[in-house]
Amino acid sequence: MIHNVWAVGRNYADHAKELGNAVPGEPMIFLKAGSSVTTGPRVQWPAWAKDVHHELEWALEFGPELRFSRMALALDLTERTLQGKLKSQGHPWTLAKSFTGSCPLSDWVKLPASEEDQKKLRLQLFVNGESRQDGLVSQMIFPAEVLREFILARFPVRPGDVLLTGTPAGVGALHAGDQLEGRLSLAGKELLTVPWTVAG
Ligand code: ZN
Repeated sequence: MIHNVWAVGRNYADHAKELGNAVPGEPMIFLKAGSSVTTGPRVQWPAWAKDVHHELEWALEFGPELRFSRMALALDLTERTLQGKLKSQGHPWTLAKSFTGSCPLSDWVKLPASEEDQKKLRLQLFVNGESRQDGLVSQMIFPAEVLREFILARFPVRPGDVLLTGTPAGVGALHAGDQLEGRLSLAGKELLTVPWTVAG
């Protein structure tokens, strides 16, 4: 059971720019409920959410000793219009970020042992066959170990918790019937291919 999903905002400079946000000086952490995680190909959210955007993210699992040993792909689904409203009012993002079904998560695979290899990981999202997001782990402003130490020093992390490491540029709205494919590869070798379908 996943208790907590620790997520990082604005960890890719090109994405911070596309939303008109400054690049942060330290990690900007927010929570998604562990119970917002879904597995399997079906993506669905409550009817009141009208402007749901995809944010493809490299996910890491806090293992038994709170170290990272497995990775996955996740969608940090976000109600963008609502998020903008909450942001401008100085309110928390919870309603825009942690709604039911807001964290589709792929199967887990083994994390490459070396940091050099981890940096070469490439995450890509295709929507209806069209490339939407494409990023390298090396482009992250705060690398995985920095995020891990920052979070462990401040929050009650439990084994099995998930870290979402931020999204590269290219976020956009999703619609009923959209066919998504997430890909995680290392130096051209495909490690994960994840099909998601937005429920109609
Ligand atoms: Zn995100």
